[in-house]
Amino acid sequence: MSKPSGSIRRKNKHRAKRTVKERARLEVPVGQVEVCFPANLSTKKEVLAQEVADAAGWSLDELGDYRVVRKNLDARRRPVKVLWMVEVAQKGHALPALEIPNWHVDVIAEKAPEIIIVGAGPAGLFAALECLDQGFRPIIIERGVDVRQRRRDLVKITRDHAVNPDSNYCFGEGGAGTYSDGKLYTRSHKRGDIRSALECLVAFGADPDILVEAHPHIGTNKLPGIIQSMREAIVEAGGEVHFGCRMVDLEAENGAIQAIHWLQLDDEIPVRRACEAVILATGHSAKDVFRLIHDKGWTVEAKPFALGVRVEHPQALIDQVQYHGEERGDWLPPAAYKLVCQVDGRGVHSFCMCPGGIIAPCATEQDQVVTNGWSPSKRNNPFANAGMVVQIDEEIWKQSGFTGPLAGLEFQRMVERNCWEAAGKSQCAPAQRLLDFIDGDDGKVSKDLPKCSYVPGVVSVNLKTLLPDSIAKPLAEGLRAFGRKMPAFLHPDAILVAPESRTSSPVRIPRDATSLEHPDVEGLYPCGEGGGYAGGILSAALDGTRVVQMLASKRRSKNT
Ligand SMILES: Cc1cc2nc3c(=O)[nH]c(=O)nc-3n(C[C@H](O)[C@H](O)[C@H](O)COP(=O)(O)OP(=O)(O)OC[C@H]3O[C@@H](n4cnc5c(N)ncnc54)[C@H](O)[C@@H]3O)c2cc1C
Repeated sequence: MSKPSGSIRRKNKHRAKRTVKERARLEVPVGQVEVCFPANLSTKKEVLAQEVADAAGWSLDELGDYRVVRKNLDARRRPVKVLWMVEVAQKGHALPALEIPNWHVDVIAEKAPEIIIVGAGPAGLFAALECLDQGFRPIIIERGVDVRQRRRDLVKITRDHAVNPDSNYCFGEGGAGTYSDGKLYTRSHKRGDIRSALECLVAFGADPDILVEAHPHIGTNKLPGIIQSMREAIVEAGGEVHFGCRMVDLEAENGAIQAIHWLQLDDEIPVRRACEAVILATGHSAKDVFRLIHDKGWTVEAKPFALGVRVEHPQALIDQVQYHGEERGDWLPPAAYKLVCQVDGRGVHSFCMCPGGIIAPCATEQDQVVTNGWSPSKRNNPFANAGMVVQIDEEIWKQSGFTGPLAGLEFQRMVERNCWEAAGKSQCAPAQRLLDFIDGDDGKVSKDLPKCSYVPGVVSVNLKTLLPDSIAKPLAEGLRAFGRKMPAFLHPDAILVAPESRTSSPVRIPRDATSLEHPDVEGLYPCGEGGGYAGGILSAALDGTRVVQMLASKRRSKNT
C-alpha cells in the first residue's frame, strides 16, 4: 500500500483550545492525520469524521473518504482517550486502494524438493507457507491431532484430569497458541515482516482490525478456524500434514541430516523418511525433543527463562484501576496491565496478561501441573489473569542441584511435579490468596479461596513453602512492589495459582547466525520458540518464515 503524501499530527486538541489561526491545513488532497479524543466518543462515527476534518484543516463538506490505519488507547490519565491515525482524502480524490490480504500459490510442481517440518505451531505453519512460496513441498509432522479433535482432549484434561501427552493445550494443530488469548505482540522491530504476518492471518480469516489495533489479539474462539484454513491451503497447494505422528529420531551422517523417524501414534507404526532438510519447530514443551538432541551428542544449551505463578483478580477491579474509575462502557476494552520490577538484581514481571480470561491447565504429562491463560475474542470473562514470574538462571537451578545443558528443564520439571503432588496428584492446582502469600516471611495457608476461573479446581496450599525459596522470596517482594505501584493489586480476592512455568524455552538449540542450521548437523534448522528463537505467536511465525528464506537462499547459492 503506498504511503500518503502528507501528514499532520495533532494530539492535544482537547487540552489546549486552538484558535482558527493555529489550524494547519493539510497541503495535499490525500494524506494522513492523527486525532485524539475521549474514548467515550469513539463509537460515534460523526465525531471521528468531524475530528478528522478538523485535523486536516478542512470543512466537513470538503472531507471525502477516510480510513483508520492505527488505533491506540491512551489510558495514562482520565479521561481515557483513543489516538487514531487516519488516512484522508478530500472530496473528489481517492484514497490509495486497500489491498485485501489474500494468500495464494499455485499447486507445487510434482518434483519440488521436500522440506520436513516437525511441529504445526505458528513457526511450523508459517514455515510451510513460505516453503510453498519458495517452491518447496512442506511435509509437516505433528504429534497432536487436528484442531477440532484436539478440543475433546482439552475437555478430558479439565473434566477427567486426564492428560494426553501428545494432544493437550501445548501439543496439536496450531501448537501452543491455538487455545490462547492470541495476543499478537512482538518485540521484533521489522514492521514490514510483522505487517505481512498479520496480513497472512487476515487472509486466513482473522479480523482485519488486527492490522489497525496497536495491541491486536484474536481470541481462543477464532484461532482454530484460522489455523484450519491455513492447513487446508497448505494441503491444497501440495503440502502434506501428518497428524498423530511423533518424531522419535533424526539420522545424520558425516554431519548432515539423512532421515527422520516418526511413530504413527494410532497404530504404533514406525516410519522412516529420507530427507535433506528438517525444520525443528517443536515448541518449548517438547522435553523429549531436547533430550533426543542432547542424547545424540548434538549441542544444546541451558537457557534462562522465567517461572512463577498466575495471579487472578476480578476484571472490574483492573478496569477501575487502569481507567481511573471511569466507566468502561462498551467503548473501552477490558483493561490490561504490565508490571516489572527488580528484586536484588533479579527481574520479576507480569507475563501474558489475559484480560477477561481463564486460567488454563497446560500440562503435557500426567504427573505435572502447569498453568497459562487464554481469553475469548471479546475478553468477556469476569476475571483478569497474568503470569507473575521471576527470572531463572544458572544461579537458581544450581541452588536446587541441577547442572548441565538440561538443568533449566529439570528445575522446571521439579516445580511442576511438586505442584502436582501438593494439589493431590490431579490437574487441580495449588493456590493461595495473594495477601496470604505475602503475609510475613513464611506466608500462611488460605483458610478459603476466592472464586477462580481455573476449571479443574484449586487446592489451598502455602505456595511460599511449596515453591523454591529462590522463586518464592523475590516473587513475594515483587508482588509487594507491584502493590506499591497499584495498591488495588493487593486485593483480598486476588488469588495465586501455581505454577506458571512455560514462559519460554529453558533450552536453546543453537544455530549458525547466517545459515540458521545447527552447528553440528547440516540441514537441521532449529526454529521458533523451542529452539529459543521466539517468544510468542507472532515471533514464532516470523522465525518460521525466516528459516525457510535462509534455507532457500542457501539452496539457490548452491545451485549457481
Ligand atoms: C494457553 C497459552 C496461551 C498463550 N497465549 C499467547 C498469546 O496470547 N500470545 C502469544 O504470542 N503467545 C501465547 N502463547 C505462547 C505461544 O503459543 C507460543 O509462543 C507459540 O505457539 C510458539 O510457537 P512454535 O511454533 O514455536 O511452537 P508451538 O506452538 O509450541 O508448536 C510446537 C508444535 O510441535 C509439536 N511437536 C512437539 N514435539 C513434537 C514431536 N516430537 N513430533 C511431532 N510434533 C511435535 C507440538 O505438538 C506443537 O504443535 C500461549 C501459550 C499457551 C500454552
